[in-house]
Amino acid sequence: MEQKQFQAESKRMLDLMIHSIYTHKEIFLRELISNASDAIDKLYFRSLTDSSVGMKREDFRIEIRADKDARTLTITDNGIGMTAEELEQNLGVIAHSGSRAFKTENTLDENTEIIGQFGVGFYSAFMVAKRVTVRTKAFDSDTAYEWQSEGVEGYTIDTCEKDTAGTEIVLELLDDTDDEKYSEYLEEFRIRQLVKKYSDYIRFPVQMEIERTQNKEGSETETETVREMATLNSMTPMWKKNKTELTEDDYTNFYQEKYFDYTAPLLHIHNRSEGTVTYNSLLYVPARAPYDYYTKDFEKGLTLYANGVMIMEKCGDLLPDHFSFVRGLVDSEDLSLNISREMLQHDRQLKLIAKSLEKSIKNELAKLLKTDREKYNAFWKAFGIQIKFGVYNGFGANKELLQDLLMFHSSGCDDAEGFTTLAEYVSRMREEQKYIYYAAGESVARCAALPAAELVRDKGFEVLYLTENVDEFAIQMLAKYQDKEFKNVSAGDLGLESDEDKTALEEKNNAAKDLFEEMQKALNGKVKAVRLSGRLKNHAVCLSSDGNLSLEMEKVLNTMPTGEKVQAERVLELNPEHPVFAKLQQLYADDKDKLAQYADLLYQQALLIEGMPVEDPVALSKMICDLMVQ
Ligand code: ADP
Repeated sequence: MEQKQFQAESKRMLDLMIHSIYTHKEIFLRELISNASDAIDKLYFRSLTDSSVGMKREDFRIEIRADKDARTLTITDNGIGMTAEELEQNLGVIAHSGSRAFKTENTLDENTEIIGQFGVGFYSAFMVAKRVTVRTKAFDSDTAYEWQSEGVEGYTIDTCEKDTAGTEIVLELLDDTDDEKYSEYLEEFRIRQLVKKYSDYIRFPVQMEIERTQNKEGSETETETVREMATLNSMTPMWKKNKTELTEDDYTNFYQEKYFDYTAPLLHIHNRSEGTVTYNSLLYVPARAPYDYYTKDFEKGLTLYANGVMIMEKCGDLLPDHFSFVRGLVDSEDLSLNISREMLQHDRQLKLIAKSLEKSIKNELAKLLKTDREKYNAFWKAFGIQIKFGVYNGFGANKELLQDLLMFHSSGCDDAEGFTTLAEYVSRMREEQKYIYYAAGESVARCAALPAAELVRDKGFEVLYLTENVDEFAIQMLAKYQDKEFKNVSAGDLGLESDEDKTALEEKNNAAKDLFEEMQKALNGKVKAVRLSGRLKNHAVCLSSDGNLSLEMEKVLNTMPTGEKVQAERVLELNPEHPVFAKLQQLYADDKDKLAQYADLLYQQALLIEGMPVEDPVALSKMICDLMVQ
């Protein structure tokens, strides 16, 4: 019999598959079952219009047989089968439709990755088998054919005996090695596991003959072994069921089994979409962040099914980073199993699905915020940071989408643990209030104690307390909410003073100009300016910043391991009503050395109030002690 050659490209492909890492190899079964299911689909559809097929839906099945003595695994279907030409065409060129993706000069590693994620159809059989035999008879044909191959060397086609239409694929498994135990694929538990994992939702039964021990009829003690057919897949995916058929428990159980999380999810989102792309999706928002969520090891993604067949365990493209905590799956009829089409064509469809999932997640979270504040608080504690990063990242590209999901601590909340949304803040704003005020610091208590925060509160205005590193970055990215500007209580003009107050302050500042220059000189470049401020009520001094970089942001940026150190434009602000100011004026006239010392002391106090480190604590302490004994 003539041995036919595979195409050159196919040889390379086979080579890649054979060297694929072991954990990827198990997908061969998914590929073969999926082909079988497609073939059955074709004959089943034909049966609907052609009575000569003579089969009903329940007659169709896929059967798996393991023969441990012969070391063979056989997958049989009673689908449409193949003619000689089809055999030649379909199996003569390895992954004839999938090979394009492999033409590029990818490295072996990248390619084996791809194999693991997408599979490459029929030829994945060679990842576990040394010889593959396909016996097939096309519906409507009298002749059956046998195709056989041992891999790269090529293949043979011959006629054979087969009574009924359909295809039988026999894999002679590779010999076990120290690392790779191919005989595993002959074990019932392993086959069950693989069917459950990858092919649970194939619409036709995947069956296997199993042995079961039972008591002999009429006997309490004697047992016998019976053989019976067991169906390994559940056939209807939960996400394709009607929502009304499912209980809260069904959703929770499914989540807990699939994601090994013993806590119930906060939210499930079960949708069917029939717009430009048709898909079912079942998404969950977990109640807590996985232990690795905020590390670089965490991998976002949803499980992707093409018509009930899992093609990718974690498809990252389906989830934007700001919703990376979402778990779940998408099943689309518009996707095919085929690798090259996956990667190239389906890109657009994946994007469409991702866009619509994003919208639906946002809407459900917004709904939760309205209807169940307690749950939303739990969500916020687990994943709020991620949403805030989402506002900041991408130069604020997603801020519109996310801004109404944001929550912050606030002086308007009843307890320190409480959160307010921006909409709630704005709804409480006083008529004369121009800005949304915020104070940034490491804790609510710290923010609340800032002198400037006290002043704003005294005016009857609410102050947001930003306690996470990312907060102020997100707020600055927003810049405004409902046309109200954000204002850091520690920076710039707070808009609290009347025009007369402002003019009066300016006059005082002008009058003390020389004093402030002297103090700034003494501080030796540490501050950009010294000035009087309306920001202080009881305190003598505080530090503020000019420009967009606040003191809090400076702190955050300087804790980053990479990047250059930054410094906010610091301004030392003095309270014109405080006796210290009068003292400084007196020293300017009498004792410039002491003035320099006091300038330094005030600056260091201001640092402490801001929660920033003083440069030389020992020197500071000495200076205070010296003053105490004077
Ligand atoms: P794909 O399924 O992605 O097209 P495969 O390499 O898995 O690529 O299969 C190639 C072709 O071989 C299929 O498109 C199908 O026409 C045919 N084929 C594979 N398995 C079967 C089967 N069990 N019954 C009938 N045809 C099959």
